[in-house]
Amino acid sequence: MEFRDLKKQYQLLKGDIDSAVQDVCAKAQFIGGAQVKELEKALAEYVGVKHCISCANGTDALSLAVMAWGIGSGDAVFVPDFTYFASGEIVSFAGATPIFVDVCKDTYNIDPDKLEKAIVKAKAEGKYKLRAVVAVDLFGLPADFDRIKEICKKYDLLLLEDGAQGFGGKLGGKTACSFGDISTTSFFPAKPLGCYGDGGAVFTDNDEWADLVRSYAVHGKGSSKYDNIRVGVNSRLDSVQAAVLNVKFDAFKKYELEDINKVAQKYTELFTNAGAQEKGLVLPVIKEGFYSSWAQYTVQLPEGADREKIQSEMKAKGIPTMIYYIKPMHSQGAFEGTDSAIAECPVTDEICSKVLSLPLDPYKSDEDVKVVVEELMKLI
Ligand SMILES: *Cc1c(COP(=O)(O)O)cnc(C)c1O
Repeated sequence: MEFRDLKKQYQLLKGDIDSAVQDVCAKAQFIGGAQVKELEKALAEYVGVKHCISCANGTDALSLAVMAWGIGSGDAVFVPDFTYFASGEIVSFAGATPIFVDVCKDTYNIDPDKLEKAIVKAKAEGKYKLRAVVAVDLFGLPADFDRIKEICKKYDLLLLEDGAQGFGGKLGGKTACSFGDISTTSFFPAKPLGCYGDGGAVFTDNDEWADLVRSYAVHGKGSSKYDNIRVGVNSRLDSVQAAVLNVKFDAFKKYELEDINKVAQKYTELFTNAGAQEKGLVLPVIKEGFYSSWAQYTVQLPEGADREKIQSEMKAKGIPTMIYYIKPMHSQGAFEGTDSAIAECPVTDEICSKVLSLPLDPYKSDEDVKVVVEELMKLI
């Protein structure tokens, strides 16, 4: 079994993907082809924001937002402690300081109460200029944006939605990548909407920030690429990737997002029927009003379970599993000795030792799910 079966997806979409890629080759517009504009327009429409600016990857997308806001030395940005490294890395890369905040044990997303406490504490200390909050839609589930937006407004902080895993998620009738002042996503192959290499996008309703992101992404261009009015980067989505995404986005809208929700529901149903919760297994929770794009189906193993042994026994049965994430952000070596290493995040500390992500994609059959559930139940 594949952890995320991109081969099967390609087999199903092969005709359309092959001809879309061949079309790029035939026209030889490898950079900035019509496919890129077409994709940006379709994504902005789907998400419901004014501007979508594609770029080279999800990390650059976050960095471009931080550049547009002029975040740098002396600034601090609040970031969840339980996430992929890039969510905090981009803050440090800009010369600012990430302050890590604990997450909710049931949703894995930044805990609004603890966020507010961290803001009040940092404000009282007065060491940094507090600029923004990064809220991650972890495993596909939108963060608690109703509460987070309120907090950002109260303390005059910008909100950056890291929707790298969240594309397609919804909350209260709005779509993921529309919740931040600026929002971003990633098209890394294994993300909910993935391309055939690296890719990313920035979303915003704000004209000025959109212009700045477009400029920073092309060497700080002014009126043209050869008129450089600020120092930027070279970050763009290739035409080939856009062509692949245009095909895959159709499938995503037509059935993939719905189907992956059905597969996730099947997991929850079969685990529940098998008495998983009684055995201490914690299943993902999607609260009222939320809709996940299911980047991962992540469970927490019961207290005292030997995760390594479970992984190797599942692997022996042909079932791949992954650990997202094994280390709290504040414990990463890159932050050693910095203020970012000082964080009290007991929930993250605990779940890092318990989480296990199971094979998931829109193409998994009920039988696939049944096999995974049966094997895991035998081991706990
Ligand atoms: C994947 C990911 C990123 C980075 O995306 P890339 O395209 O790999 O650069 C950022 N944040 C989160 C939460 C991610 O999962």
